[in-house]
Amino acid sequence: MEIILGKYGELALKGLNKNQFENSMVRTIRKRVEHCGEFRVHTAQSTVYVEPENDEADIDEAYEEIKRIFGLSAVVRAAVCEKDLTSICETAESYLGSRLDSVRSFKVNSKRADKKFPMTSMELSREVGAYLIDRHPDLAVSMNGPELTVICEIRDDAAYVHADQLPGAGGIPTGTGGKAACMLSGGIDSPVAAWKMARRGCDLVCVHFQSPPYTGERALYKVERLAWQVSRWAGRVCLFEVPFTDCQVNIRDNAPEDYFTVLMRRSMMRITQKIAEREECGAIVTGESLGQVASQTMSAIRCTDIVAGMPVFRPLIGDDKIEISECAKKIGTFDISIEPYEDCCTIFTPKHPRTKPVLEAIVEAEKGVPGLYEMETAAADNSVLKVIHFYDEDFV
Ligand code: ATP
Ligand code: MG
Repeated sequence: MEIILGKYGELALKGLNKNQFENSMVRTIRKRVEHCGEFRVHTAQSTVYVEPENDEADIDEAYEEIKRIFGLSAVVRAAVCEKDLTSICETAESYLGSRLDSVRSFKVNSKRADKKFPMTSMELSREVGAYLIDRHPDLAVSMNGPELTVICEIRDDAAYVHADQLPGAGGIPTGTGGKAACMLSGGIDSPVAAWKMARRGCDLVCVHFQSPPYTGERALYKVERLAWQVSRWAGRVCLFEVPFTDCQVNIRDNAPEDYFTVLMRRSMMRITQKIAEREECGAIVTGESLGQVASQTMSAIRCTDIVAGMPVFRPLIGDDKIEISECAKKIGTFDISIEPYEDCCTIFTPKHPRTKPVLEAIVEAEKGVPGLYEMETAAADNSVLKVIHFYDEDFV
């Protein structure tokens, strides 16, 4: 029988006890593999076991799901057998024989969590290696850098045979890091920022600004699909869609053109903060990266940061665009982000935005925008909530 093993990542977490961690991990995995058929999910020896209950259970699909679960540092598919040498050898051959035919070098590694097993790890590796060589005489044994490593794990309940394990999604389990309000645009950066915070255990409340009729339905659908793609890792994402047209038009009509971008960003930040407080979030998250565009210089960031009444996390602040794009490709948001539907940031943008706005001048200019703060309160109040789950079929 084949099963999936997930190995815990940062369990040395202070303040989070192991039981809590394991219970939340098991609950999450059960939910995430529900659509793949019937699986038994349980934990033992710092590993979570995901076992198909019958032949209908789709282990390939379950494996893909488990690779997206935060808190697991490695995932592996393994064959289960009796804890005796003959079964282990036969299982290794039947499970990995065809892969051994496609490589030139291999080695066997054994791990013995059950110390009552009658052979040492070295002895077991040697015996299994000899058995496999007999059946694949062209194979060379290579201790350093073999093309395939056969791993035999002797655990309390059974023996497990598998090839090299893959890295898991890493991070810490969703729901253990508090709630964060993430400003989500349709761009490349902010979905990556959201994903990074989810990976640190945060529940995500995303906030998206739209300005109809300047921005269209397609742009909105694009952001919803980005949120969905993040939810495939995070499990669930709340998305608030904020009507931002009134604020933007008001700023455009009543402030100097070259202050437009900074004033708009301060306005977004204040609205996000209102929603964040209402939703009991502990922090705001943005996808800013220092120096990437005019509004992301230190002085511009200072002008927006100062209106937020809570910590503002910028997980991409030190990253290059290339690194961010690579991450976006890995998590599956890149192809959605590069679709051409523009969000509200691209409308009314001045030809020459200030790269070094002076806070005092910005505050002064803001006073000249009539009724802006009331409009912001209305925008926060009129924002529309969509709860997006990883299993939403609308977005597949
Ligand atoms: P991104 O790729 O995330 O859109 P960007 O390089 O386009 O970033 P900006 O347009 O300056 O940069 O936006 C900086 C940050 O402000 C974004 O990462 C996002 O967190 C937030 N933001 C921008 N536009 C919106 C929007 N329409 N709705 C919500 N948040 C936004
Ligand atoms: Mg953008």
